[in-house]
Amino acid sequence: MTPERRRRFWGWGWEGEGPAPEQQQAIARLLAARFALPELRIAEPPRLEELRLPRPRLRPPTAIFSDAPYDRAAHTYGKSFRDVVRALRREFTHPPDLVAFPRSEDDVRAVLDWAATAGAAVIPYGGGSSVVGGVEADVGKRYPGAVSLDLSRLDRVLEVDRTSRAARIQAGVLGPALEDQLRPHGLTLRHFPQSFEFSSLGGWIATRSGGHYATLYTHIDEFVESLRVLTPTGTIETRRLPG
Ligand SMILES: Cc1cc2nc3c(=O)[nH]c(=O)nc-3n(C[C@H](O)[C@H](O)[C@H](O)COP(=O)(O)OP(=O)(O)OC[C@H]3O[C@@H](n4cnc5c(N)ncnc54)[C@H](O)[C@@H]3O)c2cc1C
Repeated sequence: MTPERRRRFWGWGWEGEGPAPEQQQAIARLLAARFALPELRIAEPPRLEELRLPRPRLRPPTAIFSDAPYDRAAHTYGKSFRDVVRALRREFTHPPDLVAFPRSEDDVRAVLDWAATAGAAVIPYGGGSSVVGGVEADVGKRYPGAVSLDLSRLDRVLEVDRTSRAARIQAGVLGPALEDQLRPHGLTLRHFPQSFEFSSLGGWIATRSGGHYATLYTHIDEFVESLRVLTPTGTIETRRLPG
């Protein structure tokens, strides 16, 4: 059986992919020369077995939740330089206690309801490409625990309106899968941030991202007509009007 392709828990990209050792050496030599350093040591990426994750303070109440070490480690950080450095130093001090993987709106609602009862913090997680600590579960002692709400299973284009050139799309879809679903309709969202491969529609909207690989209309704001947002106290839906 082919093992499932997994994203790295400590940084950008897929496990087992990236520059080969000799390419890494060449990059190190280039950087050492550029910054006049006598030597550059290439850090070994962490292995899951090496991590000392704090014990989860919450128990998974249903099968939507996971407390598996890989899931907790993979949702500890975003993808800034600081995040990768901490991961390479094996510093996983504040992983989420649980990671939830909803597949439907009802699942999201169930997670929020359970968290409200348990008093737990919930942090939405799209592609996890935040560079400003936006997905970190360092929520302080006010909460008995934290849940990372991974929206990657909400990844479908639900409806396409060719006449208005509009689509209703779930928030967790990553850039490439979103474009793959629009392409058969002869459409594109035309939003291309540099993190396109590993960032989500919901993350783009939450952070008001800029897609600088396109020209003229580059911000996600320009393409959003309407939002349906589940919050801990109810659902907000705005009217579908052109962005
Ligand atoms: C290599 C690299 C290149 C980048 N290039 C760009 C660029 O070109 N332009 C740019 O603007 N940014 C860029 N960024 C930053 C980042 O990719 C963007 O902020 C992106 O919009 C985040 O999307 P995400 O799905 O990864 O969100 P995440 O990192 O998962 O989350 C970001 C924030 O949004 C919240 N959130 C996520 N999904 C939802 C949701 N469905 N509902 C409510 N809240 C949600 C999270 O809780 C968090 O606070 C880059 C980052 C990297 C690492």
